Amino acid sequence: MRYISTRGQSPALSFEEAMLSGLARDGGLYVPESIPQLSIDDIRAMQGQSYEEVAFRVMRPFVGDGFSDAVFADLIAKAYAGFGHGARAPLVQLAPNHFLLELFHGPTLAFKDFAMQLIGQLFQEALERRGERVTIVGATSGDTGSAAIEAFKGLKNVDVFILYPHGRVSEVQRRQMTTPPEDNVHALALDGSFDDCQARLKDMFNHFEFRDSVRLAGVNSINWARVLAQVVYYFSSAVSLGAPDRAVSFTVPTGNFGDIFAGYIAKRMGLPIDRLVIATNQNDILDRCMKTGAYQTGTVEPSISPSMDIQVSSNFERALFDAYGRDGGAVAQLMDELKQGGFSVSQGALEALREHFDSGRVSEQETLDWITKANTSMGELLCPHSAIGVAVAEAQRAADVPMITLATAHPAKFPDAVEKASGIRPPLPNRMADLYERSERVTRVDNDLASLESLIQERIKT
Ligand SMILES: *Cc1c(COP(=O)(O)O)cnc(C)c1O
Repeated sequence: MRYISTRGQSPALSFEEAMLSGLARDGGLYVPESIPQLSIDDIRAMQGQSYEEVAFRVMRPFVGDGFSDAVFADLIAKAYAGFGHGARAPLVQLAPNHFLLELFHGPTLAFKDFAMQLIGQLFQEALERRGERVTIVGATSGDTGSAAIEAFKGLKNVDVFILYPHGRVSEVQRRQMTTPPEDNVHALALDGSFDDCQARLKDMFNHFEFRDSVRLAGVNSINWARVLAQVVYYFSSAVSLGAPDRAVSFTVPTGNFGDIFAGYIAKRMGLPIDRLVIATNQNDILDRCMKTGAYQTGTVEPSISPSMDIQVSSNFERALFDAYGRDGGAVAQLMDELKQGGFSVSQGALEALREHFDSGRVSEQETLDWITKANTSMGELLCPHSAIGVAVAEAQRAADVPMITLATAHPAKFPDAVEKASGIRPPLPNRMADLYERSERVTRVDNDLASLESLIQERIKT
């Protein structure tokens, strides 16, 4: 299996090379050259299997020869061993034909652990075999950073630097990034928004001299290996509800379009998915684009669902690549226009997107209302992101198709918003109950490429 860039100008790479580099050198994102197909029988064979067994079957065709079957199975086992639930991604029922997929039983209480714990294992194995070391730099609106630090802390062949927007992440998110004592972990609080963090990260990747000198690697959701790991729970949950003999729909709280794009890949592989519903907060560029075809960035309005406070949705580029018939030149041109503030999706491409995706947007007040309502009438205490998903799913779901809403974080990760809406302050699980007592370590940084690069170079020398 080879991986090609959405902008058509970079050479094709193996799975391992695409994983270790992150972003393509032409600025594009890696996608598989073709999508492996699972037959009805392949999918039926997943019924009753463990999460790890499903993970192996779903991901194996994408991974290629770099990892043997035995090694790959072993890395999957290690990745999910630290989760606080035997099913890894359990389903609970909210209402008739509406289910919640709990993706928050990993070490940092958000769905990002599913991908990050696995790529931590894959990186370590690949780098040790190659005798190489890398510098991982990530941008985070809160959850990616804590998940990356948790997955890479203490690894011999890796330094990990995480850029987060100063003052715009929750206290639990910040503490998860600033309290690990391992000296290969570097939390950087940037003066700016998440989009600024992501823009500086892209600048570093496009500055080839720097990129090569520190052997830069990326673990943001632009990394294909992360998308791939997330495809698994679409299969495991759909199969629990009767796939392949019954179609299901999914609603996904979305910011960077990574999680929902994984659902689209599951569908392309043959999983019978009826609708994929995009759920956004007030930073609604994706909802506006699906409704009007205009992909216009606005200013980010900080919300109580900070992990979705995004106006440049990186993984949307992958969906556009397919919607434009895999024309890398057309995608490169759109991304140029985006630098001027936005672009219009062509009528044909918009129709192609609407074949798979619906969308909805939820205001701040509606988010709080749904936390309250889900607690009183569904018996579920939801984090604000998950509440946005449930709100959109309840508005849009069809009576005859089961709807699965992805619960992307544990309510205890966002205790202020949850308490405001429900009167309940959700406690942290026991294993991290002392988080508020641990000492913090963080460096404040300017929104400036040159100073960031020199800081990183100095830190990895010592
Ligand atoms: C990252 C995150 C999201 C958004 O996921 P994308 O892949 O960026 O769409 C939603 N909710 C939570 C809690 C997150 O951490």
